Amino acid sequence: MSEYEAVIGLEVHVQLATKSKLFCKCPNCFGKEPNTNTCEVCTGMPGALPRINHEAVHFATLVGLATNCAINLDSVFARKNYFYPDLPCGYQISQFELPLCEHGHLMIETDNGPKKIGITRIHMENDAGKNIHSQTDNHSYVDLNRAGTPLVEIVSEPDMRSAEEAVAYLKSLYRIVTYLGVCDGNMEEGSFRCDANVSIRRKGDTKLGTRTELKNVNSFRNVARAIACEIGRQEDILEDGGEVSQETRLYDADKNITAAMRSKEEAHDYCYFPDPDLLPVHIEPEEFAAWQKELPELPKERMQRFMEMTAIAEDEAEILVSSKAMADFFETAAASASPKKVANYIVGPLQRELNASGKSLAELGMTAAHLAELVSIVEEGLISAKIANDIFADLCASGDSPKAYVTEHKLAQISDTGAIDAAVDKVIAANPAEVEAYKGGKKKLVSFFMGQVMRETKGKANPAVVSKLLQEKLG
Ligand code: ADP
Ligand code: MG
Ligand code: ZN
Repeated sequence: MSEYEAVIGLEVHVQLATKSKLFCKCPNCFGKEPNTNTCEVCTGMPGALPRINHEAVHFATLVGLATNCAINLDSVFARKNYFYPDLPCGYQISQFELPLCEHGHLMIETDNGPKKIGITRIHMENDAGKNIHSQTDNHSYVDLNRAGTPLVEIVSEPDMRSAEEAVAYLKSLYRIVTYLGVCDGNMEEGSFRCDANVSIRRKGDTKLGTRTELKNVNSFRNVARAIACEIGRQEDILEDGGEVSQETRLYDADKNITAAMRSKEEAHDYCYFPDPDLLPVHIEPEEFAAWQKELPELPKERMQRFMEMTAIAEDEAEILVSSKAMADFFETAAASASPKKVANYIVGPLQRELNASGKSLAELGMTAAHLAELVSIVEEGLISAKIANDIFADLCASGDSPKAYVTEHKLAQISDTGAIDAAVDKVIAANPAEVEAYKGGKKKLVSFFMGQVMRETKGKANPAVVSKLLQEKLG
């Protein structure tokens, strides 16, 4: 056991999936030819005036409401001044003294039960462009397509104590913004990214240690690895009698190390001041009331409801709500088949197929309607549960309807006594020694006979019928 305790606070940037950018009419989209999705506002031309996109205020407010924040109906945009080539104005338009949302929290699950993680503030700001450092011609380029994309920055309290807690918080936040539909959740494209502030202190100390900030770690897995690696580095420093210096560090996932990027001494004094080009943001109370009503059922509540519907365990219910798409999928299938059985297929075979194929739920050939059909044909006795399990991967790959697949591959269960009768007779004739033993009292052999008959019928015999016939014939 280490004598140190880690302290972690996260700053999460979430791109809002609005139709247009934050302060201009350029479409808010990813992946166009560099510098083709820009205008005089988002490229910072002198004299061009920003105008707030109300949809972004709406989305940001929903994020605040879903994270238990107090919403400031009047908030203020401020200029955050610094120089960087991807920032055309020479300042970012952000919120400083009066952010849109404050004093929120989220509950996470930990090994020691539920834990509350404080959210200090959520503010709106515009994203910067991107610098592209060419590997071939020794030049650097600037692409301003991303400049002006609406962001919310969600700043947590330093309430997390391990990499696991940080990831639990991050996943919970991710689910919320994707459930709300205000973020597309595409982490590879940078729609959801995280800076992790990490410090350590001796257990029992109340004063915070000196922190480092890990920039833009872009997958849940790498967040966990980066934090664990940084905690280890800081422990080594303190163990050797050294001091951690406050700095920004970058995580190198290939080498699993963090490396200094810039020290806090070089950090900018942002000279924040209210942006004179923008009016304070005002939300009308009537509109705010309407937004409050719009808040959909959130992952935690939905999970609770699913647990009541299915009586499955909490960690399995977690899988059902792991994304909005998954929760909708479950709910659609469970509307026309046994919810508990549907849930079991999702946490079992479906999960296995997702992992094995690396595909998303939408890419997989199994639709909610097909899953419901599969569950139903097992319940009706058209196929056995074993066959359903055996053909699951094929159904996911082909997108076939389970009924059509079963007909085409002649997999329908045989309940017809005549056909099973012949198979039972054959098995009994082929295994005289076992029949002898059974009659002599080794009743356990019934499962051997069952297995043999199933094999004989390629798994298609109705187990209830087989069992009945075996009892009769073996006496
Ligand atoms: P800055 O804007 O310079 O990054 P903030 O005070 O806004 O600084 O803090 C940013 C984040 O750092 C917050 O999430 C906060 O919880 C976290 N934080 C602050 N101090 C510490 C610390 N000593 N250890 C770990 N995290 C910290
Ligand atoms: Mg910071
Ligand atoms: Zn623009």
